[in-house]
Amino acid sequence: MPIAVPQVEIRSVIQHKVRKDACLPSSPLAKRVSSDPLPTDVIVRIASHLAANDHRASVASLQRCSKELFFALAPILYDTLEIKPAHSDLFLTLGQPTVSDLDTELDLAQKEASIFSATRNALRRLAIFRYVRKMVIHALPSDRVSDAFFQSITSLPFSVFPSLDSVSLLANAVDDIRTWVPTSYDRPRNPAFLEALTRTSAPTKLCISFRALLSEHWEEHREATVPGQYQLVSRLNRLKDDGDGNGWRSLKSFSVHNIVHQVLPSLSNCKNVYHFSSHITGSIARPLLHPPGPESTYLPGPQWSYRSWQLGTAIKNLFPSGVDATKTLEGTSWEFVNTPGHVLTKLVRDDDDESGVGYEEVMDLVKGAVKAGLPQDLPMREGFAKELVGEVFEKIKYAEEEQCTACGHLTHSVPTLSSIRDVS
Ligand SMILES: [Zn+2]
Repeated sequence: MPIAVPQVEIRSVIQHKVRKDACLPSSPLAKRVSSDPLPTDVIVRIASHLAANDHRASVASLQRCSKELFFALAPILYDTLEIKPAHSDLFLTLGQPTVSDLDTELDLAQKEASIFSATRNALRRLAIFRYVRKMVIHALPSDRVSDAFFQSITSLPFSVFPSLDSVSLLANAVDDIRTWVPTSYDRPRNPAFLEALTRTSAPTKLCISFRALLSEHWEEHREATVPGQYQLVSRLNRLKDDGDGNGWRSLKSFSVHNIVHQVLPSLSNCKNVYHFSSHITGSIARPLLHPPGPESTYLPGPQWSYRSWQLGTAIKNLFPSGVDATKTLEGTSWEFVNTPGHVLTKLVRDDDDESGVGYEEVMDLVKGAVKAGLPQDLPMREGFAKELVGEVFEKIKYAEEEQCTACGHLTHSVPTLSSIRDVS
């Protein structure tokens, strides 16, 4: 009996065989160095596409191909600098650089062809640091590395990160600031790495992220992170103005991510944006986000009154007694995003507030409490004129979704989750 054979399959098998054969080397490998290399500007264009598509490791490999490419690709590769303990230690170790004018020293080192020598490591890094526009700090470097970095940069007469525009402090770094113990109490301090940065850069955007966890762990997380919460608020304020004439006065926007229960910091003369977390269920590997609504009811979280306390505190923290309230208000605003997020709610209202409130009520309850509380509390502070209360309210805004100007994250994007065991 004849068997019908599909011709197309036979053809593809033959073609496959031919293609496979064609791949076999018929002669020794060609020399890897081309006599007609790609022009540098073409490589730069390719590298910028690679970097934009998260292939920075490939750009790093390209950069090591030649001395010419090292400097040609540095602006692309070092546009964003990620600080990770141990990984970044060597990079931040500059020794005692005796550079008075970076451009002159670089020209000289290039003419002498000594720029790639081991003795010029610090000079090369200083050249690279000039391109950093965005810094992501995963965790703070050790005190030893930070102290040495501080000494190095304060001995230089120029800004080490002149292009730095945005800084993101991720959850481990925020915990490092909260729990850091200074070696000296002669003045309020921040960890040396941050103090060094505030002396040698002038970013306009700063964002911080709290640790994101599954909703079921929120209360355990709160208990573990209560120590040092007000210290964190005060240290973040000192990043802007340390009282000794140093600090990032250049900051125009400050964002806070993954808020559940935390005491909220505010920076004066900045747009302060607060991204409240939504409920998260599932697992660390497969988190599920539940924005406020019927689907997030009965999930564990703080009471609504906790939220209004957070909002009120974020505003009141900027007006301690004796402060020039009018000056503090210049350019200051507060935007609360996803305010009902992670609040304990239920489907319908009843008399038992302990088990949550109706999910549709949260926004009105929080707004009402803030509206009633601030006119009573603020004028009790010395230096705060009663008529300024109206101005404060004009500067409060509520939103459902917002993109961070520093890191680009959206309020409702699923964050990277930590284990409750990682909480210090
Ligand atoms: Zn951000």
